Formats: sequence, C-alpha cells, structure tokens
Amino acid sequence: LKNRYAVGIDIGGTYIKLALVDINGRISRRSKLSTSNYRTREELIEAVASEVKAIRAEASLPRGALLGAGIGVPGLVDFKRGMVYNLTNLSGWRNTPLKKMLGAKLGLPVMVDNDVNLMALGEYRFGAGKGAKNIICLTLGTGVGGGIIIDGALYRGSTFSAGEIGHMPLKEDGLSCNCGGRGCLECYVGNGYLVEEIKAEIRAGVRTMITKLTGKNVSAITPETITQAALKGDKFSIDFWNKVGRRLGITLTGVINLLNPERIIIGGGIADAGQLLFGPIRRTVNERALPIPRRAVKIVKAKLGNDAGVIGAASLFFTGEVID
Ligand SMILES: [Zn+2]
Repeated sequence: LKNRYAVGIDIGGTYIKLALVDINGRISRRSKLSTSNYRTREELIEAVASEVKAIRAEASLPRGALLGAGIGVPGLVDFKRGMVYNLTNLSGWRNTPLKKMLGAKLGLPVMVDNDVNLMALGEYRFGAGKGAKNIICLTLGTGVGGGIIIDGALYRGSTFSAGEIGHMPLKEDGLSCNCGGRGCLECYVGNGYLVEEIKAEIRAGVRTMITKLTGKNVSAITPETITQAALKGDKFSIDFWNKVGRRLGITLTGVINLLNPERIIIGGGIADAGQLLFGPIRRTVNERALPIPRRAVKIVKAKLGNDAGVIGAASLFFTGEVID
C-alpha cells in the first residue's frame, strides 16, 4: 500500500480547499475556490467535481491509486449516509445527499464528515496527535468545535453529532447561545464574544495598550491585537487571556475527568496566543482535574494549521473505515 492517495476537500464559509494527499499525509497538489462564487449547492458541487477531475488528470496516478475523495463540511452530517443535515454558514444545504451527488459526478468513493472531526483525524494521523490513541481536538474561532478520537477511531456518537465541546454549558444561567442552549462555552470564548468583551471594557474606560495599537479604532480589535498587546507586557491583555484560558480550562477539566484523554489538541486563530492562553488552561486543569487523568494528559497546540481540514478529509480513506 505504498502509493495510495485521496483527495481531501474542506468546504468553508470563505474558501473550498482541495488537496491531493498521499498515505503519509503529504500534499502534492492543491487548489482553492471561493465559496461565494457559487449561488447554489449544485453549482458548488459541480465546481468541486471538475476541480477533483483536474487534480486527478494532472497527477496522472496509476490505476487504483486514488482511493476516493473525503469532504469536511462545517455542520452536522450523517456520516454513514454522507448526508449533510445543515451547514452553519452556508444556506440552501439542508438535507443534501452530498456523498451521492458528488460520487455520481466523480465515479469515485466519497465520504463526508464534519470538518472538526476531520481536523481531529488529521492531527491524530499526521499532526500533534501522532502516537496517542485517545485525543480531544478543539478549534477556537468564531465558533468552538471539537472532535473526539477514542482508541484510534473517531467517536461520532449515536446520531453523529458528538464532539460539540463549544456547546458544553459553562454557566448555569448564562448567555443565550445560537444553538438554543444557554451559557455554552462558545458564548464566552468565541472570537466575536471576546472582541465585544474587550470593546465594552475599553468603553468603560479601562487603560490598555490595545487602544494605542488600534489607533483608538475599537472596531479594528481582533484576538491578534490582544496577543500583541499582551506580548508587550500590557497587563489588561495578559489578564484577559488568563480569563479566557480559565474558562477553557474549566470545560477541559470536565472533558478530562469524563474521557481520560492522552492529548488535548487546540487549534484555530486564538491558539496563536500560545503560552498566554495555554499557561492558564494548564494551570486551571492542574488545579481542578482528577489527579490520575490530569497526570496522563498533555495539552498541546495543533500542528497541521490550515491543512488540517484537507489532510483529515483525505485520511478518511487511510483508516480502513470505508463506507459504501
Ligand atoms: Zn450552544
């Protein structure tokens, strides 16, 4: 099984990324489409199909070397049927039989899964999770996603919706969440909320270097601005990351006590805050988690960066769990 390949496809709100990935997780070809160029799911699927065909033609692989195309989508998926229930940031995708639709155009096996599940699978096979069997993956961005690998396989739950760490409740009577719940982790560590929290504090008159870095234009504040200020020693920004790290640490304490993972892998934009964020996460876990699972777990940064999605999507074909 030396020369085996799969195409990994990562459908996001802004871009659709495609890559030809070999069985060692190496990317030999890649391309990118703008999601907004397509008005309907049919148009988008058609464009993805011709892109996959182009990649296949250019690579001129030996017969049988291309195992299939794996697709990650930002939403809920019935993995067995390859059916997209709904996508968070793309309209018109409710109940899309994506596996069937794309498979018919390609004449190749197609598998579809949630994008964060696939990021977890990619990190497990080829990234920060290599060598571990029990892994929890977290992506921190506008939303907070999660993926769970138990005994070397993705844990998808009884209706394929497991891993929604962002919707684990953090506060009993907290903010209302998009998901219909209340007080979810995502409400307190999602990018949008963090930026709003900072703006509110600045409006309330707090002194911070962030004001200077953004030329007093509060609408220019991003999580990166907070990191920049913290790295320059701004106390407010350091405390801010401490607060965010503590919130994540509290949720992860629950995850650690429940699932006893070997590794927790954190990716997404906010993870670039590095030690500013990982420090308080680890401290909180050390203070709170049960001693035996706490000693067993390492909390690390994701390694595959923007390629995690396409590598993970292709990896579906390297795990031996091909679904027909
Ligand atoms: Zn929620």
